[in-house]
Amino acid sequence: HVSADPINDVEHEVEEWATQKKSEIEELRKQEKFRREFLSNISHEFKTPLFAIQGYIDAIQEDDFEDKDMARQFLDKAARNVDRLSYLIKDLDEISKLEKGEIPINYSKFKINDLIKEVLDSSELKAERHHITLEFKEKYDEAIMVYADREKISQVIINLIDNSLKYGKEGGTTSVSIFELHDQVLVEITDDGIGIEEKYLPRLFERFFRTDSSRSRKIGGSGLGLAIVKHIIEAHQQTITVRSTEGLGSTFGFTLQKAKPQIAFPGLPVLKS
Ligand code: ADP
Repeated sequence: HVSADPINDVEHEVEEWATQKKSEIEELRKQEKFRREFLSNISHEFKTPLFAIQGYIDAIQEDDFEDKDMARQFLDKAARNVDRLSYLIKDLDEISKLEKGEIPINYSKFKINDLIKEVLDSSELKAERHHITLEFKEKYDEAIMVYADREKISQVIINLIDNSLKYGKEGGTTSVSIFELHDQVLVEITDDGIGIEEKYLPRLFERFFRTDSSRSRKIGGSGLGLAIVKHIIEAHQQTITVRSTEGLGSTFGFTLQKAKPQIAFPGLPVLKS
C-alpha cells in the first residue's frame, strides 16, 4: 500500500499521539488533585474530634478545676468524640477494603421485606430520639426474594436510614418502599427533612463530601456513609439514585436483582415392578 500523502499521514499520527498523551497527563493531574484533597479532608476530619478531646482533658487537668458535675459532662463529651474517631476509622477501613476489592460479595437468596423490617426495628430507638416516625410501605402480598449480600445490603439500608434521621425534621417521617420491576426490586428511603440543593446532588456519593448545611448544622458524620453505599451497590452491579428538593426532603433509591424463582417439577411416578 502506497499512501498518497505520507507527510500528512505522519502528521496525523503525531497529532493523535499528542492528544492521547495530553489526556493521560490530565488524568494523572486529576488523580493527584483527588489524592491531595483526600489527605486534607482526612486530616481535617481527624483533627476536629482530637482537638475537642484535648480541650476537655486540658480543662479537667487545670489545678483549680473542682466541679465534679462539669468534669463528668466534659468526660461524656470527650467520650463522644472518641466514638466519632472510631466510627471514622471503621468507615475508612471499610471503604479502603471495598475500593481494593478486598471484600467479596457473598450472594444468597433472602426476603428483602424481612431485612427491611429488621433494620427498621433496630433503628426504632434512634428514630424516637430524633422524634421521627419510621414506616414500611409494604404493598405486595408476598415478600420479594432477592439475590444479594444480605449483610452488606443491611449496611446500605442502615446508612440511608441513619441519614434520613440525621437530616430529617423533628416530627417527620422516614418511609421505606419497595417496587417490583421486571427482574429487579427498587428500594426507596424517603424523608421529609432538610433536602439537598440541586447543585450538590452529583457530588453526594464522593468520599468526605458533605453539603454546607449539614456541616453548619453541626450534624455528626464523616461524609463516608454514601460513598460506602455506592460502592456496595455498584459491586452488586446495581444502581443507586437520589432525588431531593431543598427544604422538602430526599429520596434515596437502589435496585437489587430478584432471585430467580425455583421451579419445582412434580416427581416422576415411581415404577413398581
Ligand atoms: P455524613 O452523613 O457522614 O456527612 P454521607 O456520605 O452519609 O456522610 O452523606 C454525605 C452528605 O450528603 C451529608 O453530609 C449531607 O450533606 C447529605 N445527605 C445525605 N443524606 C441526606 C438526607 N437524607 N437529607 C439531606 N442531606 C443528606
